[in-house]
Amino acid sequence: MRPNQGEFRVTATRAYLDFNASAPLLPQAREAMGAALELANPSSVHAEGRTARRAVENARRSVAALAGAKPEHVVFTSGATEAASMLLTPDWRMGRSPLRFSHLYVCAADHPATLSGGRFAPGDVTLYGVDPNGVVDLAALASVLGSHDKSSGLPLVAVHAANNETGVIQPVGRIAEIVKTAGGVLIVDAVQAVGRIPVDIAVGYGDFFIFSAHKIGGPKGVGAIVGMSDLMMPAPLIAGGGQEKGHRAGTENLGGIAGFGAAAEMARERVDAMPGVAALRDRVEEAVLARFPDAVVHGKGVERLANTTFFTLPGLKAETAQIAFDLAGIAVSAGSACSSGRIGPSHVLKAMGFDGDEGALRVSIGVETTPAEIGRFEVALATLAERRGGRSKAA
Ligand code: PLP
Repeated sequence: MRPNQGEFRVTATRAYLDFNASAPLLPQAREAMGAALELANPSSVHAEGRTARRAVENARRSVAALAGAKPEHVVFTSGATEAASMLLTPDWRMGRSPLRFSHLYVCAADHPATLSGGRFAPGDVTLYGVDPNGVVDLAALASVLGSHDKSSGLPLVAVHAANNETGVIQPVGRIAEIVKTAGGVLIVDAVQAVGRIPVDIAVGYGDFFIFSAHKIGGPKGVGAIVGMSDLMMPAPLIAGGGQEKGHRAGTENLGGIAGFGAAAEMARERVDAMPGVAALRDRVEEAVLARFPDAVVHGKGVERLANTTFFTLPGLKAETAQIAFDLAGIAVSAGSACSSGRIGPSHVLKAMGFDGDEGALRVSIGVETTPAEIGRFEVALATLAERRGGRSKAA
């Protein structure tokens, strides 16, 4: 058995098509983690501690390179949710001086990690919208930021680079220009984008990135914030021993960080493999539309990640379809992992103005996905269509 063919990935009877929830652990990440777990405390000054420190700093360099950033501008966290909670705060410092953001503007289709508003009071958070394709409404954003009252503080803006449910890619460069014009700071949740499209903080793509290791083949429970600089930084969420230059205290999660670094090294290469992934994703959509001609593929008309499709099968609840696929050995999701289990459409679909009761099914794949797995999906889809009285051509 290959290391990445455990229960979580592919077995003889199952196909895992839910990479946006969590991508399979890469063998390189597993190996780096195993070695790092043996290491000493990276804050210790003895030789053992210095060896551990090197492992952390190597990983920091790899994560920085992934974002076009400087290693000293990477702060490791316990995941993207912690990174978002750290960044979304009114209280910052610019060098030694306090800096205050009086209001947070969050995209209505963002992940709950940023949508929750972090450490802002609920009354100090405004949502801005997306169009029916799920793309940020730039005019609406410019207008809402135009009416921000700067006398009480600056505007802080959060946006996702690519949507975890639809895969829709946001025009982050243009959003960054609008935020800059308004004198604000832009936090880009690049969790789903990184490793799938190039993201480079040095080319006007926002002020801070949020990353999560487990979406790029690293371990769960580790992530990072990556900044343009470290001159302007949020008040720490976790204070204590001064690790991560005082931005995030606590002995570093060495295994997680080393695994993240190894996955980051692989992620840069894997972006180049996306055309092959797109071909398999397109095959999924062709099968869906052949079996369910009235299916709605959300965001199909706009730029999307190569690995994601999110579709509604009219008259068929996404949760019901998900269970049917699961029983047939196919792991897909009904919306994001965080909102699955809820009845009704996701907040992303709502933000897009889609109000069908069925919700939508997400198939998200990756470089490891094989044509045989997509074939298995097609067979299960055909069975589902036959049961529903849909088209029943042999797959
Ligand atoms: N942001 C996006 C776009 C995500 O898809 C996710 C996870 O699904 C997160 C943030 C949260 O990441 P983590 O699991 O590392 O907290």
